[in-house]
Amino acid sequence: MRTPASRARRIVVKVGSSILTAAGAARARVFTELIRQVAELTEQGRQVVVVSSGAIAMGAHRLGWTHPGRSIPEKQAAAAVGQIALMERYRAGFARRGRQVAQVLLTRSGIEDRERFLNARRTLATLLRLGVIPIVNENDTVSTEEIRFGDNDNLSANVVNLVAAELLVLLTDVDGLYRSAPTPAGPTPAHWDVVERITPEIERAAGGSDHAFGRGGMITKLEAARTAARSGAATVIANGRRRGVLLRVASGEPEGTLFLPGQERRLGSRKHWLAFTASPRGELRLDAGAAQALLERGRSLLPAGIRAVVGRFGVGDPVRCTDPDGREIARGLVAYSAQDVTRICGLSTRQIESVLGYSNGGEVIHRDDLVVLDERSS
Ligand code: GLU
Repeated sequence: MRTPASRARRIVVKVGSSILTAAGAARARVFTELIRQVAELTEQGRQVVVVSSGAIAMGAHRLGWTHPGRSIPEKQAAAAVGQIALMERYRAGFARRGRQVAQVLLTRSGIEDRERFLNARRTLATLLRLGVIPIVNENDTVSTEEIRFGDNDNLSANVVNLVAAELLVLLTDVDGLYRSAPTPAGPTPAHWDVVERITPEIERAAGGSDHAFGRGGMITKLEAARTAARSGAATVIANGRRRGVLLRVASGEPEGTLFLPGQERRLGSRKHWLAFTASPRGELRLDAGAAQALLERGRSLLPAGIRAVVGRFGVGDPVRCTDPDGREIARGLVAYSAQDVTRICGLSTRQIESVLGYSNGGEVIHRDDLVVLDERSS
């Protein structure tokens, strides 16, 4: 029995285009089966958020294309058309089970602002409380490279943090994370049953797989599992084409590959947001002593250890901290603007007030507002 899965009360289920569609057309039976299982989970008293791909594929199909769009604007156009088709499937299917659905379209830039993140969290929590099933997708219309999650694996891991879910289920078209790369002619390789820690060996096994319509391969799924683990959630990668798979996963049966959150140090929701959602507005280059104080002693960042300031940021903005080798070691929310950090860097804490004429405290980044990234990737 896999208790991290069977005990989960709040579950994020991500379904990929490759199982929801075939050559762009919706697979009615897959939708029906997915909806049946999600409805049953809610009847068990569990709260489920669905992160669904398929908009681009279904839109391209509606537009009569044989490709998913040849340029980014074409893909965005297809997504805008297909999102309606996608939601119509969910709306009609859940209505037959007496459930309402809600469409939630997110972008990374939409929730990297802390205020908006909290708004999205409140909306999702309210929907769940009302018994509505939120269906989340990326808002492809406004998405460009810098502001997007990029793929729904990544999006779903961020949604785990948004709703404080205990379990992320990634439904895909393979049985789990294969132990070795599949070959076209050979037999299907065995998959991992339980992964306690994502090691380099496991990363190698994930190799590179891609589908015409979905963006995520196994690598993005591993990243999602790692991100989810940092907010304390377990992840299961399982074959969404198998009947009843979601119910079996959620009742703790050995389906697919389970990633335990245990080994990863859990970050509070705010720090998780800072490490994985917020995008840095600038960079603070630290000397070796400050880098060590952050990495090894979990200290706050003082002005004395900052050698240089890059970028334009204001008070409260996220920035990256780099060590003398240029390696990013931490992210934090700054207590001073870029202009003012430039004036106080290298100075002692005592000098802040006399140089700036005010003080927001002795730390440029307080340790409560700092995430060390070695932890993030370990
Ligand atoms: N948002 C895209 C869609 O709905 C899918 C992205 C992905 O599959 O990762 O078509």
